[in-house]
Amino acid sequence: MNTWQKCKCPQCGNVIYSRARQRYTPQAGAPTICAMCATILVFSEEMGARLPTAEEQLEIDGNVLLSRTLETTRRAILMLQNATLN
Ligand SMILES: [Zn+2]
Repeated sequence: MNTWQKCKCPQCGNVIYSRARQRYTPQAGAPTICAMCATILVFSEEMGARLPTAEEQLEIDGNVLLSRTLETTRRAILMLQNATLN
């Protein structure tokens, strides 16, 4: 069954979808990024999106691969928002 859940970015209100019962279902506490404002978020127990707690932010910062991946993705989102093709 394809169950899409949607929640809003607490920073900008953009709708974020999480997908349940498919190939990828985020776990509570999994980091994500708002595709609109590029804010780093964390999935809540209810598959909502919230800002990371101070402890979670320290954990993200301490994980070199994760923090670099999130920062690279953030920069890509911000670059695409300002990109033009002509
Ligand atoms: Zn946002």
